[in-house]
Amino acid sequence: MKTVRLREGKERSLLRRHPWVFAGSVDKGGGDSGETVRVQAADGRFLAWAAYSPRSQIRLRVWSFDEAEHVDAAFLERRIAAAVALRTRLPIASDGVRLIHGEADGLPGLIVDRYGELLCAQFLSAGTERWKGAIADALLAATGCARLYERSDSGVRTLEGLAPVTGWLRGDGTTGVTIREHGWRLAVDVAQGHKTGYYLDQRDNRARFAELVRRFGAQRVLNCYCYTGGFTVAALAGGAAEVMSVDSSAPALERARAHVADNGFDAARAGFADADVNAYLREQLKAEARFDAIVLDPPKFAPTAAHAERAARAYKDINRLALKLLAPGGLLFTFSCSGGVGAELFHKIVAGAGIDAGVDGALLARLEAACDHPTTLFFPEGEYLKGLAILSR
Ligand code: SAH
Repeated sequence: MKTVRLREGKERSLLRRHPWVFAGSVDKGGGDSGETVRVQAADGRFLAWAAYSPRSQIRLRVWSFDEAEHVDAAFLERRIAAAVALRTRLPIASDGVRLIHGEADGLPGLIVDRYGELLCAQFLSAGTERWKGAIADALLAATGCARLYERSDSGVRTLEGLAPVTGWLRGDGTTGVTIREHGWRLAVDVAQGHKTGYYLDQRDNRARFAELVRRFGAQRVLNCYCYTGGFTVAALAGGAAEVMSVDSSAPALERARAHVADNGFDAARAGFADADVNAYLREQLKAEARFDAIVLDPPKFAPTAAHAERAARAYKDINRLALKLLAPGGLLFTFSCSGGVGAELFHKIVAGAGIDAGVDGALLARLEAACDHPTTLFFPEGEYLKGLAILSR
């Protein structure tokens, strides 16, 4: 068993059960990519069993803080079974479910989404890469699913020194599946879609949006960064007369258009624009358009805290434009999925946008990722999606 010794004082975060050790905290020792190592303090005390990642700044990701635990296939089976069992007890109004949410489920770097009977996984760390076969078997055993598709094509793999990989890990056949979210029919393609195919984290916020569109009688709705139209369907279900959906991805827009028809809504109620959102918002302002409800769900502008300042300007800009486009008493659902921009900072950014737009608003709700994407006590960095539901005045 290989050992990694930390520098004096660098054991503190592990003692607080934080699952990461950065390269600068390592004194000596190491292992192969993804190999399980024994992590000890400068004085030799046991701290954790962790996966070693020789190329990553996050040099160690903890599997277990229990010295008696063996990191083997049975260990992974237990962790995976526990995560799957937790989901059966959570209020999830869909058969599209985040089964494994990385560190929050004690499986650093592993993301698994279930779409009906189809599983889709991302192996984003050296440790999960090394245990891929055992993880795949455990996933099938815990879920009863027969098919598992791999989407390890996220850029963060590069930081671990891992090449992108996609394809069937278990089973084969069509990569398309239709899920039911709040009773809506949504098609997902695990091979073609973004990430694992769909943004499950916004599930509850889509239902909330439908409810508020109905409550406030919003007629003209603008869905920015619509992807495959989850919020578009929500707005139509909430009774909106017309919904304009904007995205820069043509295949996503095509899907969004199909979703309107698949859910029995009149195509005349839905418009689509293949455009850059920022440019689109400016055009609409020039044309003096107004909307009763707007969704802003942009991609991650700040991958890390180091990008927070530039990201803040980008968030402020689109929020300023959106607030100006809102009719009085209009509803804004605005989000950031940047880990580097905390909820408090995001609130400040949107407040700044309100000052510039000359629009105040009442916070109806603070929004976050659905409960199958948990944040844990010991790993607050896991919190990434935050949003505000604002009623302008
Ligand atoms: N709200 C969606 C998820 C949005 S993901 C849902 O509920 O499913 C972010 C989307 O922004 C992606 O579909 C991506 O294609 C789109 N996008 C990224 N940059 C963009 C830009 N500058 N203008 C328009 N769309 C953009």
